[in-house]
Amino acid sequence: MTPLDSKLPEKLNRLSEIAYNLWWSWTPEARELFRRLDYSLWRDTEHNPVQMLRLIPSENLQQATHDASFVRLYQKVLLKYDREINNGHSWFFTHFPEHRGKIIAYFSFEFGLHNSLPIYSGGLGVLSGDHAKETSDLGLPFVGVGFFYPQGYFRQRIPSHGWQESIYPQIDMNQAPIRVLRDERGQEILVDVPLSGRHVFARVWYVQAGRTNLYLMDTDVDENAPWDRELSARLYSGDSEMRIRQEIMLGIGGVRLLRRLNIQPHVYHMNEGHSAFLLLELIREKVVSGMSFEEAAAQVKKQSIFTTHTPVPAGHDAFSFHMVEQYFHDYWPEMGISREQFLRLGGHQEEWGIAFNMTVLALRLSGQANGVSKLHGEVSRQMWQEVWPGKRVEEVPITSVTNGIHVPSWISSEMSQLFAKYLGPDWRERHDEPAIWERVVDIPAEELWHLHVHMKRKMISYFQEHVRRNWINGRHDPTQVLTGGTLLEPNALTIGFARRFATYKRANLIFQDIERLKRLILDTHRPVQIVFAGKAHPADDPGKQLIQYVYNMAKNNEMGGRIAFIEDYNMHMARYLVQGVDVWLNTPRRPREASGTSGMKAALNGVPNLSILDGWWAEGYNGANGWAIGGGVSFDDPRAQDYHDAQSLYQLLEDEIVPLFYQRDKDDIPRGWVEVMRESIRSNAAPFSMRRMVKEYTTRLYLKVLEGQV
Ligand SMILES: *Cc1c(COP(=O)(O)O)cnc(C)c1O
Repeated sequence: MTPLDSKLPEKLNRLSEIAYNLWWSWTPEARELFRRLDYSLWRDTEHNPVQMLRLIPSENLQQATHDASFVRLYQKVLLKYDREINNGHSWFFTHFPEHRGKIIAYFSFEFGLHNSLPIYSGGLGVLSGDHAKETSDLGLPFVGVGFFYPQGYFRQRIPSHGWQESIYPQIDMNQAPIRVLRDERGQEILVDVPLSGRHVFARVWYVQAGRTNLYLMDTDVDENAPWDRELSARLYSGDSEMRIRQEIMLGIGGVRLLRRLNIQPHVYHMNEGHSAFLLLELIREKVVSGMSFEEAAAQVKKQSIFTTHTPVPAGHDAFSFHMVEQYFHDYWPEMGISREQFLRLGGHQEEWGIAFNMTVLALRLSGQANGVSKLHGEVSRQMWQEVWPGKRVEEVPITSVTNGIHVPSWISSEMSQLFAKYLGPDWRERHDEPAIWERVVDIPAEELWHLHVHMKRKMISYFQEHVRRNWINGRHDPTQVLTGGTLLEPNALTIGFARRFATYKRANLIFQDIERLKRLILDTHRPVQIVFAGKAHPADDPGKQLIQYVYNMAKNNEMGGRIAFIEDYNMHMARYLVQGVDVWLNTPRRPREASGTSGMKAALNGVPNLSILDGWWAEGYNGANGWAIGGGVSFDDPRAQDYHDAQSLYQLLEDEIVPLFYQRDKDDIPRGWVEVMRESIRSNAAPFSMRRMVKEYTTRLYLKVLEGQV
């Protein structure tokens, strides 16, 4: 049952079932179905079928029942849905039938599944969302646990002075693909968590991503005190007091939520340290039922996997002992340990003093831990060596599983069809097999190039429509119209840079030598344009300064309209960008980019990377599939590093990238460039797919737990 059922004509009664399962978002036929139903609503809702079905006039639905080709498509989608979702077959089932039904519970602060559910801020969330989708495709018995934030992550507005503003519109729960979980009597299911002497309650929302369910807690319920109702209002806002309460809710509340639903996971996977309190709750449960602390901790360890994402010490949550005592003083007796023993579990010397560090807690109590690229694994072993005194760096038990992207979610439909034609109709089912990608050489250069140019035009017209709508609605002044991508032209070499604006990502690197940059972008015959997008964390003023800096460049007439800043980056816009630009630029200060995933999305769509040899690109770059800035050389002085990297960036653009892009044959095809595009797809698509990643987590980490080998 969904709230839309009563509105739908009998003949289309399962439309709401499809709309509420995000499976539609990575299934081309299902996307086509909603697009065909009402194209302008589809665009206006930024591809949100739940909202669309709410808003669509009933007559239009009735009309659709008389459209034979629409009804045929509808039936085709249902058939596919039933085949993929409602049958028991899957990779996991085929290979590991003995482990079917053994649940893997995955805890994450954010899930980036779709822009209609803005409960993600960036890479971490998109990774969890992609992970969840792939577990559905592979048929892993998997549940996600997290928060539903009624105000989500902020929407970004850039006024003409360039200082980012954050807006928190309330998510309309009736127009998002989520539903409240109720018990047999129709009552909302409430999770109850003790929080320093009082109780905090959360209702539970569920989201379907194919066969995988996510359970999301939301504390905005009548039973709570006003300040507790605010607890899950927004993602990443508030002070450390708010943060510890959220993390208690996620870790301890999350376990209680699963118990309430009678789900007994075999594996607990923590995506980042935010959820590490779950380890304490698992131990407490066992101690309360009679086990010793040591025995309980040993058992919990066998079941737990921890993935760390941050190579920057300050990026790991740590709470003062005082605060921890306040929330846990009546908790540690139930775990059978003293205050000192408890504090030692997370004790760690921070820059500001000794504190309770969530990463340290997770590392001490998890049997398996990993970083998210090979380089990040190395960095993590160095960073956390102290947790294993006496072990040499190489012996520190933190391995790595390199991130990936969910291919069906990030490939353009156009490119997907091209792959079907040349790689074979079963390319989607086999997309993690490197061998099938060898056939990319069979794609004729003209076809690949024309398709790419089409995607570029599509991206530019998306920006223009975005701006036009704001202009009509009076939300934009002329400056904003100018900077929002309206001056971009489809024939110019277009560089894309879109990500969170944190200073280590150095969005300003390409502006180190303005005159040199101007010569590049203003070249009449071979112009270059750069599209920027991204949000800075609301509390990150240096990040906001960077945005303002880039924005002022976009505004500056001397740049000739060759720089654009597109406001309010999200997953919807990301699809246009990674599918439509010519080159994907990434300039992190090595080794701060744990992995990065947007470059993988670009590579898959035939957009070569131009990036520092950091994170995934240190593994992905092969000399022919894009470009490496700086050659992996490291300097202690960040200014020297920036200078070196900027020089390398300009040189690559001037000597290699621009000439190659503009070198055309008689049909105006840049043959050499297309070679790089092909190589980008051929070499990166399989190894950086989420399918490779989830299979790797399964065979290397999850199975170890399931087979009792930890
Ligand atoms: C993929 C994605 C990211 C992550 O990109 P990075 O390369 O890791 O910075 C962030 N935000 C959105 C909206 C994305 O789609």
